[in-house]
Amino acid sequence: AAMVSRRVKRKRRWKKAVEILEELEEGCSTPVEKLRQVVDAMAVEMHAGLASEGGSKLKMLLTFVHKLPNRSDKGTYYALDLGGSKLRVLRVQLDGQRSTLEHDVERIPLPQHIMTGTSEELFNFIACALKEFAEREGDSPYNSSGNTRVLGVTFSFPVKQTSISSGILIKWTKGFAIKDMVGKNVSDCLHEAMSKMDLDMRVAVLINDTVGTLALSNYHDEDTVAAVIFGTGTNACYLERSDAIIKYQGFLTTSGGMVVNTEWGNFWSSHLPRTSYDIELDSDSPNPTDQGFEKMISGMYLGEIVRRVLLRMSEEVGVFGATTSKLSVPFVLRTYVVGIMHEDVSPDLHEVSRMLKEVFDISDTALEVRKLIVKVCDVVIRRAARLAAAGIVGILKKIGRDGTGGSAVAGKSKLGDETKMRRTVIAVDGGVYTTYSMFREYLNEAISDILGEDVASHVVLKVVEDGSGIGAALLAASHAPFKS
Ligand code: BGC
Ligand code: MG
Repeated sequence: AAMVSRRVKRKRRWKKAVEILEELEEGCSTPVEKLRQVVDAMAVEMHAGLASEGGSKLKMLLTFVHKLPNRSDKGTYYALDLGGSKLRVLRVQLDGQRSTLEHDVERIPLPQHIMTGTSEELFNFIACALKEFAEREGDSPYNSSGNTRVLGVTFSFPVKQTSISSGILIKWTKGFAIKDMVGKNVSDCLHEAMSKMDLDMRVAVLINDTVGTLALSNYHDEDTVAAVIFGTGTNACYLERSDAIIKYQGFLTTSGGMVVNTEWGNFWSSHLPRTSYDIELDSDSPNPTDQGFEKMISGMYLGEIVRRVLLRMSEEVGVFGATTSKLSVPFVLRTYVVGIMHEDVSPDLHEVSRMLKEVFDISDTALEVRKLIVKVCDVVIRRAARLAAAGIVGILKKIGRDGTGGSAVAGKSKLGDETKMRRTVIAVDGGVYTTYSMFREYLNEAISDILGEDVASHVVLKVVEDGSGIGAALLAASHAPFKS
């Protein structure tokens, strides 16, 4: 009798676990009609953000990048790339031809205390790394024309630009929390730190990582019109017509357009499928009600969403037997680990076992429990990828490249009777896209679902790695007040 009742209990528990999964699936569902609503909302918010300052949660930040680098610039340029968990310092050699883009790069892990200390500590750390890099390369403090060396800076946070080469930090994202930095001019802080160290370099451009990615992609492929990052954080930038940037009229030069940094991580719409896990993740975060889209899509948060579901399954149902306390540690489950579990193709799911042991110290799970975990990963990642796709299509819609006509005239060229969609390239970078093949597949599939095969066949998502740094050097070269 005891045996029977244990079995019955186990069955009941299992039933409850499945209910939690089903509830999650329901809450995360993204049928194509829903995705189309997200697409429309994205395009509407883009309009609103361009119409007036503060007109939308989408900041639609000006970049002052009116032209993307061509292949004529020559010389040596430096770049700094700060954005996620690493600092990159680069030196790029341009020979005035398309083919070669020689560069040296050094990746320096950012210690946690630097991400949450003071602005002075941060910029001293950066200037120091840059100085050591330049010295190690044996560079003279001046370029071949006897001028100060030129630096492109990528700073991947929302910045209100005051020019192409300077701007003020609006707020931090992605776990950075250096209070005294908000409202300060990024380039001034860097120049100050460099001059204290007798490092003679001049910031020629201050850009977002999306903008660097767009620049590098466009350098190789002129059909590139937008760039998207799916990394620790998420964001997109694209080429906009000047006359569409209503809030900027008056300042505008005649030239055709400007790159706009959407800061779509902060996008919000009631059409986004939101669960109790998302709501709790948000309210426990250091930036509640901020970066809503980012919290459903980017690498910093996907693992954390999964962890919250597993924690509930553990607490309410005891799927993992004796509860382990590690399950309740925020952010212990990293998104790349979700990827490993999700993509485990072994029949006994031994990668899942290995990760459960490593991350949560959980052992001896039943195969059915491991399958359940894989399913949870799938639901969370699929939703993220499909929403990401809707974001991309929102941009295509805004620039008339979604094949629906309307303002699409600019995106089409007449060929006899038939109107042909132009090839449209979107550069993509960030580990969630480049290393997580299920995310990539779901995203590409959703783009076809939304646009239809025909239109989607003209849209090319191109992986462009290291664009955030190299692109900064390219832009520095084309915007340098004095050339090397
Ligand atoms: C930042 C963006 C950045 C993106 C990707 C977001 O959290 O706000 O500026 O482009 O992460 O790095
Ligand atoms: Mg980056």
